[in-house]
Amino acid sequence: MTPDVIVAGAGAGGLATARALGALGLRVLVLDRQRTPASIAKGEILQPETVRILDTWGALDALRATGARPVGRLAIRDPQGSPLLALDYAALPGPYRQILCADYADLRTVLADGLAATVEVRWGQRVTGVLRADDRRVTGVRVTGVGGDQEIRAPLVVAADGMSSALRKAVGVAVDRREYPHGLVAFDLPGADVADEVSAYRTNRGLCLVYPLPGGRCRLYVQVTPDEFRGRSPAELTGWCDRLLVDVPAIGALETALRASLHRRQLLAVYRLRAARLSVPGLALVGEAAHAVHPMAAQGVNSSLADAETLAATLAASGGTLDAAGVDRALLDFHAARRPRLDHVATVSHNASRMITSVSGLPKLLGARMMRRTAANPRLLGLTAGNLSGTNVRPLSLVDRLYQLGLLVDRHARPPATPAPQRSERR
Ligand SMILES: Cc1cc2nc3c(=O)[nH]c(=O)nc-3n(C[C@H](O)[C@H](O)[C@H](O)COP(=O)(O)OP(=O)(O)OC[C@H]3O[C@@H](n4cnc5c(N)ncnc54)[C@H](O)[C@@H]3O)c2cc1C
Repeated sequence: MTPDVIVAGAGAGGLATARALGALGLRVLVLDRQRTPASIAKGEILQPETVRILDTWGALDALRATGARPVGRLAIRDPQGSPLLALDYAALPGPYRQILCADYADLRTVLADGLAATVEVRWGQRVTGVLRADDRRVTGVRVTGVGGDQEIRAPLVVAADGMSSALRKAVGVAVDRREYPHGLVAFDLPGADVADEVSAYRTNRGLCLVYPLPGGRCRLYVQVTPDEFRGRSPAELTGWCDRLLVDVPAIGALETALRASLHRRQLLAVYRLRAARLSVPGLALVGEAAHAVHPMAAQGVNSSLADAETLAATLAASGGTLDAAGVDRALLDFHAARRPRLDHVATVSHNASRMITSVSGLPKLLGARMMRRTAANPRLLGLTAGNLSGTNVRPLSLVDRLYQLGLLVDRHARPPATPAPQRSERR
């Protein structure tokens, strides 16, 4: 196949791009360095905006058929389980009012299964660099893997090769990449059916996140310090689990599953990343090659699929011509359309994660105050739900921020709630 577009990376971002560009009738070649798709604990909370895009692409029924769990509420709770702030997605405007909790592998399969006949996916192909014309425009990629080394040319190259993107480095796009001072440990708990809610517990140790997954499983993320798991013996791990269950009584119902899964954990460093540009002549950056945010706000897949949708729209709007000038005009439009939206998502995600993950000092106090003020203000709650769901994105104004900090009084707000009585573990 002589491709119109080469996509490096077959994660959600790359496959979504292949899906959207294949639907325009373009010949798309997707290359991924893995020989078979890896099963990774990430990208599981799919916000309503992702659901909308999947529906538009005709992929939603297939994802539901994998057992993806619909969830209508996102709540921040105290360690006993009492609500501090609840976002009721049923009150969102428009038809998409639910989160879907799905396995990332299923999302990739569903995206791959619906690819147009003009799309080819080749596994075991690592993209190592770019080919350029005399004017430095990107005209293709260098590849190594099954079948040896190759040079493949195309009018458009898409870097969807994840956070450590080799293509981003090859074209010299700078990134601002920051590691959060904490990590997350992830457990996949079988036989631990939990409520249809994404529950973020705000505890003295930081975030503890629980949500349902297909097959009666649930995901538990626990915030940890970078060294918390280094060189732990089985007895020390048991002690760690004992302390967690004391610190967060609300997850007591998960105890049996958690103890049985202690040895099957995934430890993850957490980053936020912003590429200085989303395109250079001949190449677009999508997904985590271009942007990454704290997983707590579950925005990554939304953003990756929206990148793909917007790239297809800008190419279609430029007349679908694949001459260099037409493609590069579309790439500039792509950057202009996505940059403000991605910057907004980065701010929302960072602020949301700080509210819950700050464990000491002024950030913790401010986080608590912002949460209380937001919870007491139906308008701010609606704005927050619209922003996180991606269905009604409206950046908070300076005045809204002052309301949140309690420096201005919003006359439409309710008085901050008194703490609710302790509730049972299972909702
Ligand atoms: C712990 C965690 C939890 C998360 N939870 C959520 C969530 O609940 N909801 C949400 O929306 N988002 C979540 N995210 C973010 C979400 O997972 C990402 O936004 C999404 O996976 C980005 O997809 P991607 O295709 O850009 O990158 P990836 O999924 O990383 O895919 C990149 C692909 O590129 C391939 N590749 C890499 N280098 C090369 C190369 N040189 N040549 C060829 N192929 C290459 C890789 O093999 C891989 O298949 C989470 C992230 C983390 C880390």
